[in-house]
Amino acid sequence: MSSKTFFTPGPSQLYPTVSQHIQQALEDDIASISHRSQLFKDIYKETTDALKELIGLPEGYHIFFTGSATEIWERILRNTVTSSSFHFVNGSFSKRFYEYSVMSGLSAGKLEAPFSHGFDINEAQITAGTELICVTQNETSSGVQFPVEDIYSLRAAHPDALIAVDVVSSLPQPVIDYNQVDTALFSVQKCFGLPAGLGVWLVNERMINKANSLVQQGVNIGPHHDIPELLKRELDNQTPSTPNILSIYLLGKVCQDMLKKGVDVIRQETMTKFEMINDFVKQSDIFDISVENPAHRSETVIVANSKLSAGAINEKLAAHQMAIGAGYGKYKSSQVRIANFPAHSVEATEKLIELLKYQESYA
Ligand SMILES: *Cc1c(COP(=O)(O)O)cnc(C)c1O
Repeated sequence: MSSKTFFTPGPSQLYPTVSQHIQQALEDDIASISHRSQLFKDIYKETTDALKELIGLPEGYHIFFTGSATEIWERILRNTVTSSSFHFVNGSFSKRFYEYSVMSGLSAGKLEAPFSHGFDINEAQITAGTELICVTQNETSSGVQFPVEDIYSLRAAHPDALIAVDVVSSLPQPVIDYNQVDTALFSVQKCFGLPAGLGVWLVNERMINKANSLVQQGVNIGPHHDIPELLKRELDNQTPSTPNILSIYLLGKVCQDMLKKGVDVIRQETMTKFEMINDFVKQSDIFDISVENPAHRSETVIVANSKLSAGAINEKLAAHQMAIGAGYGKYKSSQVRIANFPAHSVEATEKLIELLKYQESYA
């Protein structure tokens, strides 16, 4: 059992069953088996089957494993874009995705919104011929979410463009119709409550066709983790290079645990905890809501303006074995970020709120 509860937005609190699964994995020598063995192939299949069921991934989608989510941004651009991508930028992660396109020598368009704000997607000037539209569904730096209905509107307005969705700090909370997006990505140290070091890349047939057509045109999309090679291996439940086998195993186990609990129960609990934290922030003397539009307020990463820095707050919380996240970048001491992931129980969240209320007397 862990001694402390991390409400930090990533790495974050481990899912409660992780330590027993690590123990079992060590007993079963999972970290030492070959990634070409039948046992590994069985693990790959078990994990991808559980994940597909958990998030309702339709037929025709493939699941690849990489080193991180950041790596997947770069792979998406290199494998499917030759000239132009478009980005919705409103915080550090969405900005970084955009910068990856610029650094890749692509023509990168963007709609920018101020920190703590979402988008009016009608303002996006997406030129004809744009190959890829990139959306950060949950901007972890500012706690702003991009409503899935807005993603579907983009699909309807730009049917020829591929749509990429970064769901690193929200999945499995948003219910996504994957038939209306082409690729999604996450890493496991946020909502899935696992140790860092695994990226998960969901890819549909349109992505595969685009990558194949670039290869046919002589475009260099490799050599590392290119879609054709990842696909060839995935069809045999393998990866091109030695992956984080332990993490793939743990992801499967945690997805199965989440399925046992019920993804609807998890989503409902997330909403309950979100409302508890949000209500507390609204009436607090030290905190204040930072994302004004309720439709854009993230349910999984709650960001609040704060009179006290997270550092000062955590000094007091340490005695109670809890910690919250600091604001991101230049908002380090003027905001706090509180993660609301499946690993955070309703009871722990209640306790955190009680402790934060108590701290108001110091402010
Ligand atoms: C954390 C995060 C990333 C980067 O994930 P890594 O696993 O560190 O590569 C990307 N996008 C968002 C929205 C994130 O919160």
